[in-house]
Amino acid sequence: MKKFTLFLVLALALALAAIVYLWPGQEAVRACVVTGDVLNNVALAELPRNSYVKIPGGGRGIPLVKLVEASQPLSGEYSILLMGSDGLFAQLKGDELGGCYIVKKNGGWNTVATQHPVNAGIKDISKIVIADETEGLDLGVNIISQNENLLHLTPGNLFRQQLTCYPYLEGETELEEGYAISLFKQKQVLPLTAVTAEEINSVLIMGKGGEYERFNGAGYLELSSNEINYLHPESKTVVRNIAGAIINPPPLSIMDTYTDSLYYINRGERVMVILIDGLSYYQFEQARDNGLIPNLAALSAAVKVNTVYKPVTNAGLAAIVTGQPPSVNGIVDRSTREPKVQTIFDLLESEHKIHVLVEGSASILKLNTETVYSADLYNDGNTDDDVFGNAMTQIEKQPDYLLVHFHGVDDAGHNYGPLAKETMEVLAKVDVYTGLLLKEWTGKVIVVADHGMHFADPEGDHGNFQLEDMFVPYIIN
Ligand SMILES: [Zn+2]
Ligand SMILES: [Zn+2]
Repeated sequence: MKKFTLFLVLALALALAAIVYLWPGQEAVRACVVTGDVLNNVALAELPRNSYVKIPGGGRGIPLVKLVEASQPLSGEYSILLMGSDGLFAQLKGDELGGCYIVKKNGGWNTVATQHPVNAGIKDISKIVIADETEGLDLGVNIISQNENLLHLTPGNLFRQQLTCYPYLEGETELEEGYAISLFKQKQVLPLTAVTAEEINSVLIMGKGGEYERFNGAGYLELSSNEINYLHPESKTVVRNIAGAIINPPPLSIMDTYTDSLYYINRGERVMVILIDGLSYYQFEQARDNGLIPNLAALSAAVKVNTVYKPVTNAGLAAIVTGQPPSVNGIVDRSTREPKVQTIFDLLESEHKIHVLVEGSASILKLNTETVYSADLYNDGNTDDDVFGNAMTQIEKQPDYLLVHFHGVDDAGHNYGPLAKETMEVLAKVDVYTGLLLKEWTGKVIVVADHGMHFADPEGDHGNFQLEDMFVPYIIN
């Protein structure tokens, strides 16, 4: 009897082991991941059993359409690259995935495509890549120069590019009285020198987390599943998940507003900052060359400066009042409002200086200063006249630092387009207001914008890493 029980237990254990071994999802398999232009990288081996369904014609597999869904593609239009470990890959349209299953076979992953030509049946797939097919510049990474949007890349599309292998030095060790060893990692990269014929003296890299880092010479874009990193071997730096690179960028940025303002205030001069929301450098140039902004044109020459990523009002305003990039001041996009670092208002308060912010109708950031809001009193759909009126009142109080935020150019840019007649008229009006403010103001004036505006057929928008959004005018007078 005892022997029989032992036998039964052993038999059950064996049967269980066999089930565990043979059941899809449990056996040891090579890695395969859904990646590219997706929110989540999905590892196939980690999927639960209920991901597998019966395939018509026999066997069990994961429907490709379910895998794609789980990865949350970043756009609505994409291709699927089924990448075999031997380098062969099949490309399918994102909306033609019916009848496609991924099955486990011989320790790897194969495709069963019941409605595609037979060569869609890629064997031993190592990656399933979602590659964005939309034309928009808002996904992935953009490489720009001061005059050109050079290249738009998404992680998914980088898998289709010809990449070079770069032996990246990971570390060196040397025994005190012995041999030395250097450790390298082969990285799949795209050298920036392949992107432009322009000689690269310096590169400004901005990360999706608001990083702002300048490098001498050219580096490499590294493909890292659903992100693109920047490698600068010379300084042994890696910037993860970048938004873009500016080749030979302007030396200054909107953050200089902070340091320049303090420089003059510390020398006993008062500073008025005129912030023209959403004014690109190219819009400014066009208006100036057409004689639309005589007051601004009469000031010291405007220089082209960088804004920060993401080029939206919260991040731009925070960079202007903190002198720090979004990664440091904590305001990366529209979702955050409270700077993590000291602002110019905090600093001036501690020095018992008078500081005032004249805003439009709404609060943008949580700032410790006297804020004068400007409701649209005359209901003309524009607060600039109200901002101007309030600024005139504040000038009489002779503040040490006065920040005046005009919103009309941004509103018109969104509604009519960056170079539309209507937008230029609003800018011309801001120019008139600036002229009148300067008649009353004794001290320095800095004119700056928080971000630019690009043509988004048929109107305008901003928030992309492209030259229209990233470069703005900067004047100190
Ligand atoms: Zn803005
Ligand atoms: Zn805007």
